[in-house]
Amino acid sequence: MDTHHETVLVVEDDIQIQNFICYALKNEGFTYFAANNGQSALSKLVSEHIDILLLDLGLPDFDGMEVVRKLRTWSDIPVIVISARDQDKEKAAALDGGADDYLTKPFSATELMARIRVSLRHYYRQGNHEPQAVFMAGDLQMDLSKRLVRLEGHDVHLTPMEYDLLAFFFKNMGKVLTTGSIIRKIWGVGYGTDTQALRTLMAGLRRKIEKNPAKPRYIMTEIGIGYRLADE
Ligand code: CA
Repeated sequence: MDTHHETVLVVEDDIQIQNFICYALKNEGFTYFAANNGQSALSKLVSEHIDILLLDLGLPDFDGMEVVRKLRTWSDIPVIVISARDQDKEKAAALDGGADDYLTKPFSATELMARIRVSLRHYYRQGNHEPQAVFMAGDLQMDLSKRLVRLEGHDVHLTPMEYDLLAFFFKNMGKVLTTGSIIRKIWGVGYGTDTQALRTLMAGLRRKIEKNPAKPRYIMTEIGIGYRLADE
């Protein structure tokens, strides 16, 4: 059995799902606490040392996002929201509101553990304040200090916008970036939500870095939410 020194807080009012998650965490050697509603989630977050939060959005007392908003006033620990299908708007709002990732019910224990690992890795990377200049994803390399992008050792020539877009993904490797957050990053706040411009830019970037842009290996589409750079 693996052992982890991180403590997980599971906030879920559906007792079957809560048991499933806790069982999976126990199997992986995580310490965990469980809460059934927003109020007890907040008191656990205040009284215990929690390293990562798994949060159902639909709680009996208040909206799960209220927990994130309050938590974010004093802590930046990873938050993975758990939501039902057909709630793409909610998921995007959760990511924009401070959550780090999301899981759609039903999900497997393997999927859950993979997301926890990615979120913790990303969190530790951020905590290490050494600015990172060289990034790798499979055979794709990006060197921000030299402004170079290489695929299988060959230089890839990107437009300035494609370069900024790819850099944004590398700095958030493994994380879902919402369409809205990407547009704000690349075009600025006043640009609104012209997703067509982003789709065009993304298509151009994929043509240069993906062998088969229709079946991307690096930048994955998260339907209705945004995109994610695969963290292999
Ligand atoms: Ca619920």
